[in-house]
Amino acid sequence: MDLYEHQARDLFEQYGIVVPAAEVTDSSRRAREIARRLGGRVVVKAQVKTGGRGKAGGVKLAADPAAAELTARQILGMDIKGHTVGTVMLARPVDIDGEFYVSYVLDRAAGRFLAIASAEGGTEIEEVAATRPEAVARVPIDQAEGVTSAKGAEIAAAGGLPPRSVDVLVRLWQVLVREDALLVEVNPLVRTPQGQLVALDGKVTLDDNAAFRHAHRGGDSTGPTDPLEAAAAAKGLHYVRLDGEVGVIGNGAGLVMSTLDVVAGCGARPANFLDIGGGASARIMADGLSVVLSDPAVKSVLVNVFGGITACDTVAEGIVRALDTVRLTRPLVVRLDGNNAARGRAILDAHRHPLVEQATTMDGAARRAAHLATAA
Ligand code: GDP
Ligand code: MN
Repeated sequence: MDLYEHQARDLFEQYGIVVPAAEVTDSSRRAREIARRLGGRVVVKAQVKTGGRGKAGGVKLAADPAAAELTARQILGMDIKGHTVGTVMLARPVDIDGEFYVSYVLDRAAGRFLAIASAEGGTEIEEVAATRPEAVARVPIDQAEGVTSAKGAEIAAAGGLPPRSVDVLVRLWQVLVREDALLVEVNPLVRTPQGQLVALDGKVTLDDNAAFRHAHRGGDSTGPTDPLEAAAAAKGLHYVRLDGEVGVIGNGAGLVMSTLDVVAGCGARPANFLDIGGGASARIMADGLSVVLSDPAVKSVLVNVFGGITACDTVAEGIVRALDTVRLTRPLVVRLDGNNAARGRAILDAHRHPLVEQATTMDGAARRAAHLATAA
């Protein structure tokens, strides 16, 4: 689970990391009052769980409380990369003399955490890493040892961070360990003209599997980050949005994962993972199709079902009835195999939907869906 910036800010504060004075609200009228309390001049910041808010116009300086109200009104309701802004954080502005980057991320391949540090903070680290990889230091962490002052000094030296940042690095590691986080990121970590280090923007991803150890946390920010994923979760679907163009629906996580691989092998990119599970009823099919189709990036949809306990004719009936409620706007390629496959195929053939076609093999279906998506 990703936290909002203001939640990350509050956590950092609890661990003794210096953060700007700030308050959140969903009302522009209250934004004015908050600005007054904070001293008049404020930074108004969209609270959405995605980066690059600054570039998208979601971070703006307001000179006085009246301007804060206007700016908050502008930012509230704004769409940033598919996220609607429901709250803004108003923060006391910080004077910037230098912007740094620091994070701890789980390196799953290596089975340990990695510190990433750079003297080029402020912009997205992926950009820096792409254009000037030598400006981004990556330091493996031994989790038994953690980030001691000595380790912090090593990270700071590697990334070109000021010596004072060692204290921040040690505290940030405490946030990660004690809060069971998988990622903590500060970008930018700012040096003020007085030499103080302030965490100006924070991102924290908590490990959902450790949530039971933090029962006090309350539920206001639980659940998926992506709006489509949230809509799917509300319908009880296991859906994960990816960034390709072929929508993928299948029964069973293993089958869906191999389908993603096969689609990728055909030169297209899967748009999502969606496991409709064992009971592919008409309702589940309709819900699944409507979630996948509501992603505008989807150019074709591949349904890959291996009938087991749920027979293919039941799945085919489900698809036919789903097509009564969901308006199919992009081609659908269906591959049915296993239990009652012949009957299932006959049902779809009889339905003769102009946008539905069938394939007999998984490879054939993936090739066809990939072709339809890339030709579109
Ligand atoms: P992001 O675009 O989502 O990463 O949002 P940030 O909170 O990182 O803000 C983007 C940029 O706005 C920062 O890198 C700063 O350059 C600038 N910014 C944000 N807050 C302040 C502030 O208090 N003072 C100044 N001078 N600049 C700020
Ligand atoms: Mn940032």
